Amino acid sequence: FLNQAYQLTIRKKRTMATIAQNLNELKEQLPSDVTLVAVSKTKPAEMIMEAYETGHRIFGENKVQELTDKYEQLPKDIRWHMIGHLQRNKVKYIAPFVSLIHGVDSFRLLKTINKEAAKYNRIIPCLFQIHIADEETKFGLDENELFEILESADYKSLSNIQIKGLMGMATFTDDMEKVRSEFRCLKTLFDKTKNNYFSSDDAFSILSMGMSGDYQTAVEEGSNMVRIGSAVFGERQHH
Ligand SMILES: *Cc1c(COP(=O)(O)O)cnc(C)c1O
Repeated sequence: FLNQAYQLTIRKKRTMATIAQNLNELKEQLPSDVTLVAVSKTKPAEMIMEAYETGHRIFGENKVQELTDKYEQLPKDIRWHMIGHLQRNKVKYIAPFVSLIHGVDSFRLLKTINKEAAKYNRIIPCLFQIHIADEETKFGLDENELFEILESADYKSLSNIQIKGLMGMATFTDDMEKVRSEFRCLKTLFDKTKNNYFSSDDAFSILSMGMSGDYQTAVEEGSNMVRIGSAVFGERQHH
């Protein structure tokens, strides 16, 4: 018997409640040492504000233009994570404010981040992205490439970046045993990297793995940072 306007209000209220509810449910579920990055790519500022109003402050974006636009529009105490592939010529746009760059997949990119960070007198926290999936399309370093960077004299001279850990994306598949084994490989590499290169560096502590479809498995395998989009904000429109 409800009229249309009333039904719309209800529907709107329900979606508004949902972001807060999703966040709260996720936070109840996640162990307290696991950081939740709310992935807000393609979602409007109003939806980010709904999450913000629950007290959430960490948001992830994968496109530089969208990230800088949202940074300008939204409250300045938001900690913005760049989670996508980053081109070197675009680092300069996010260098003044980005909190964590997850996708460092080449030494050249790391050097550019260092150079741009220096211009703002900043030390930008970074994660190395490791290739753990089958798919050709996913970016990332392998173990040899990672260790080669960490052993180079050039790396040791970079004073405006701080390596805080590793990030990886599992193969997009329903085969959760496959996903689990990829996460397990990344955790093993994380431990090895920590022992070999960062044993006395407490800052090297972040293992970013897990998205809406696989975060439970990721956490079971040792993730302490999950990047969750659709399970917070709803499905994205594919363009
Ligand atoms: C989009 C994206 C996510 C979140 O994906 P959902 O499946 O919506 O949770 C996580 N990590 C990266 C790198 C992404 O690009």
